[in-house]
Amino acid sequence: MNPDYDVVIVGAGPVGGRAATLLAERGIRVLMLEEHGEVGRPFQCAGLVTPSAMDAVGGHHTVLEEVDGALIHGPSGTLVPVGTDGVLRTYVVCRKRFDQYVVQQGMEAGAIVWLNSKPVDVTEQPQGVTVTVDKNGEQRQVSARLIIGADGAHSWTRRHFRMGRPKELMIGYQVEVTGYEGRDRWLEMYSGEEIAPGFFAWVIPSGFGTYRIGLWSTAERLNGRSIRSCYQDLIQHPLWADRFSKISPVAEFCGPIPSGMVKMPVRDRVMLIGDAAGMAKPTTGGGLGPGFHQIQCVIDPLVQAIQNNELTAKHLRSITKKPWEAMRKEQDRARALRNLLVSDCIDSKLDSHFKNFAHPDTLSLINSVGDIEKPVPLGMALLKNVPAFRGLAVRAGVRLLLS
Ligand SMILES: Cc1cc2nc3c(=O)[nH]c(=O)nc-3n(C[C@H](O)[C@H](O)[C@H](O)COP(=O)(O)OP(=O)(O)OC[C@H]3O[C@@H](n4cnc5c(N)ncnc54)[C@H](O)[C@@H]3O)c2cc1C
Repeated sequence: MNPDYDVVIVGAGPVGGRAATLLAERGIRVLMLEEHGEVGRPFQCAGLVTPSAMDAVGGHHTVLEEVDGALIHGPSGTLVPVGTDGVLRTYVVCRKRFDQYVVQQGMEAGAIVWLNSKPVDVTEQPQGVTVTVDKNGEQRQVSARLIIGADGAHSWTRRHFRMGRPKELMIGYQVEVTGYEGRDRWLEMYSGEEIAPGFFAWVIPSGFGTYRIGLWSTAERLNGRSIRSCYQDLIQHPLWADRFSKISPVAEFCGPIPSGMVKMPVRDRVMLIGDAAGMAKPTTGGGLGPGFHQIQCVIDPLVQAIQNNELTAKHLRSITKKPWEAMRKEQDRARALRNLLVSDCIDSKLDSHFKNFAHPDTLSLINSVGDIEKPVPLGMALLKNVPAFRGLAVRAGVRLLLS
């Protein structure tokens, strides 16, 4: 029996859209289900897209600002500038336009999108699955060979098939403002227990005189405090209050950031990608680049498996195991180094790290090895080459072994 579609992708976000494009370009018949009436809403992102993720999709017309570096502030004000004027580090995009463009690419390659549609049940058949879809309030049934969950942090697919949980769930909060005066082409980061326990706050230029001010942390580290109160502590902080004195909010939102790949990203005829699989980076919270890479690195064997209808968990695991285990390992190592150098440090310890980061030799090391996409080599280089960090090397080794 020929199913209605080869693949049903749940979620027309950026990662689902990318998967649809790569599959449809290779002749796979794809249906995307999007629960909202519009792609790219609600908007929950700082909008940073690394050059490699941008190159993967092309979408340069969605860029609002280009950023050459970050001015990173320690809890007591030590400044660590990372980047070089005129050397692009990252883009800031309009996420709505970016998401719509990525999904549109999938449609141009042949994928079909159903808006206002979400799965309510899936039954396994000998040769595929039947998905019961709520489309505009009416139930429809579609058959397919494979279902891909690209349905974000609270993934229905992940919960329905009991595929585990991401290792960490960070909470992000962001306010879009006017009236901030930042340095052209640079973003800023602020740290400290009051502002963003274990993590950092950001101020990102987002075009037309607006800025995105946000922060992230975990429920355990917030220890009962609301993330909104951290934002208040940032804008009223004695060291920084002047900078925020003229801001006017124009929008605000709060959203989850899942990081740490779930234990079972595949089951019989099911696969998870993007936030649904817990792919955001533990160091920056960026989920677009890893999500794109996660599907790109398995696409050719996956297409073959779909064409041959060989989609058992065992076969999907054999396709995904090597590249995805490498991604999982990289996430675990990055998290271990992040905890050691930042997240598990009280402010006095973080201040002493910042003083070391700010040393000209360390800064030149950070600028030569530092790559937002590959934080592990930078962490290792710091531990190896900065005398003040050598004392941490043994602890780092133990944590990396256990990660
Ligand atoms: C505050 C904050 C700031 C961030 N900043 C950045 C950043 O600067 N750079 C970066 O790379 N990442 C950032 N992220 C993370 C980034 O937003 C996500 O990693 C990224 O959106 C993941 O894409 P996705 O397609 O996997 O999931 P999503 O973008 O969540 O898309 C999932 C899609 O599935 C749909 N959906 C959900 N459930 C269903 C269902 N049951 N049926 C049908 N459709 C469904 C949703 O409506 C949505 O369209 C940030 C996150 C937060 C919270």
